[in-house]
Amino acid sequence: MGKATGFVEYKRQLASDRPVRERISDWNEFHEHLTEQELQIQGARCMDCGIPYCHSGLMLGGMAAGCPVNNLIPEWNDLVYRGMWREALERLLKTNNFPEFTGRVCPAPCEGSCTVGLIGEPVAIKTIEQEIIDRGFANGWMTAEPPAVRTGKKVAVVGSGPSGLACAAQLNKAGHTVTVFERADRVGGLLMYGIPNMKLDKAVVQRRVDLMAEEGVQFVTGTEVGKDYPAQKLLAEFDSVVLCGGATKPRDLPIEGRDLKGIHFAVEFLHQNTKSLLDSNHEDGNYNSAKGLDVIIIGGGDTGTDCVGTSIRHGCNSVTQFEILDKSPVSRAANNPWPQFPRVFKVDYGQEEAQVLYGDDPRQYAIMSKRFVGDENGRVKGIETVQVEWKKDANGRMGPVEIPGSEKFWPAQLVLLAMGFLGPEDQLLAQLGVERDARSNVKAQYGEFATSIPGVFAAGDMRRGQSLVVWAINEGRAAARECDRFLMGETQLP
Ligand SMILES: Cc1cc2nc3c(=O)[nH]c(=O)nc-3n(C[C@H](O)[C@H](O)[C@H](O)COP(=O)(O)OP(=O)(O)OC[C@H]3O[C@@H](n4cnc5c(N)ncnc54)[C@H](O)[C@@H]3O)c2cc1C
Ligand code: SF4
Repeated sequence: MGKATGFVEYKRQLASDRPVRERISDWNEFHEHLTEQELQIQGARCMDCGIPYCHSGLMLGGMAAGCPVNNLIPEWNDLVYRGMWREALERLLKTNNFPEFTGRVCPAPCEGSCTVGLIGEPVAIKTIEQEIIDRGFANGWMTAEPPAVRTGKKVAVVGSGPSGLACAAQLNKAGHTVTVFERADRVGGLLMYGIPNMKLDKAVVQRRVDLMAEEGVQFVTGTEVGKDYPAQKLLAEFDSVVLCGGATKPRDLPIEGRDLKGIHFAVEFLHQNTKSLLDSNHEDGNYNSAKGLDVIIIGGGDTGTDCVGTSIRHGCNSVTQFEILDKSPVSRAANNPWPQFPRVFKVDYGQEEAQVLYGDDPRQYAIMSKRFVGDENGRVKGIETVQVEWKKDANGRMGPVEIPGSEKFWPAQLVLLAMGFLGPEDQLLAQLGVERDARSNVKAQYGEFATSIPGVFAAGDMRRGQSLVVWAINEGRAAARECDRFLMGETQLP
């Protein structure tokens, strides 16, 4: 274990973020790094408790408690405390193919379940995870490890997000010849074209893709399976197929004025922004700029926050984020005890930036959009809203009830819809004739990942609905294991 008295002696310390006014002038990552000694001290705070929940990945209260990929957290905390970084890296890579992604973007359910968090502040697990892998790359320890033997079996993975990448990495390790199809021009799914550069540098994504290519994984970009490449051809040419296409159908807001110019889906806005940044440092102008505009983002989640940070970097005039739910409590509610994931009020990077620039948190709670209002050129000029109260209906179900007299007009020349996703797109799935579940996701039992078509598996958001990077990695790994078992009759994959 770390240091027996570490959690008593030392306080939690996280890497600081770059000052707001400095970081909004570029697209670089906003996190800084702790020193080696500071990290060792943070490792020392882990007490290797008798029953650690941090690596359990249990579902409690409908959310993950502990790490969904079951990272061996107390083991690598101890190794970091002792300065044994290479051994820590080996332990970390046993369970997580891409700690450089989770170490940057995971909401860290592990920390919500850390036993030290019961009486104080949890161990800085996510920070330590990122530093272990970043040091692995910096020290040249992350080298290509192609399999010694090839099985002769061919597998197609459709979609190159974290589930597709994790699946491909595992199947390649097992010796299969893996081709990943991606319709975008770059590999990475939402790691590349959803999460913005300041949160996850695209060089970090590309570095991993390059390593996988060196290990033998083949990437085919600019190819949409079901359109550019018929689904039946895929079934005929490959021994097995894993569907990892994500849940990319965005939720719309079909209220009056929806067809006005200047109203966009958040992911389209974020995708264009990152593509233009990577293609030309924004010089090609192929993105929707928020410069000088009043921006309203409808949706209070991570995607909305990324739109806040992006609009600010464009130089917007103002930014407001609508959330239909009430504000979360500052500490755990009675029905949300440890070790459940803490559903508490948080200020993320975008909100912090808005606060510094415009003097206030951009979020408005319990607010419902009623109508988009346009100008004489058919462009949006604002939104009419009403405040709501959350009340139980006759069946005991909570729902929003409008408060009379609370109507308000908000000026906006750019509106971004960040209200989540409805499920996977239909074209490929219809062509395959694969069964869907009640939420329109691909029907495949968790743990088995087999679809209604023999030899075809599904993983990630396409199977479970909109979720997290860490769950996509969990599912990609496990679907690879089941695919390997299907191909070989047995499997050594974890
Ligand atoms: C803006 C945004 C920010 C987010 N931030 C976070 C965060 O901070 N932390 C976190 O944990 N999670 C975050 N998430 C959620 C996370 O990104 C997803 O849960 C995760 O990426 C899902 O992985 P996936 O591999 O299942 O699918 P995706 O990442 O969606 O990848 C699917 C890929 O499949 C491709 N594809 C689809 N159909 C086809 C086809 N027919 N042929 C070829 N290619 C196809 C798509 O182009 C896409 O590239 C965020 C999501 C969004 C939208
Ligand atoms: S992947 Fe997420 S839950 Fe697991 S250790 Fe890392 S930050 Fe924690």
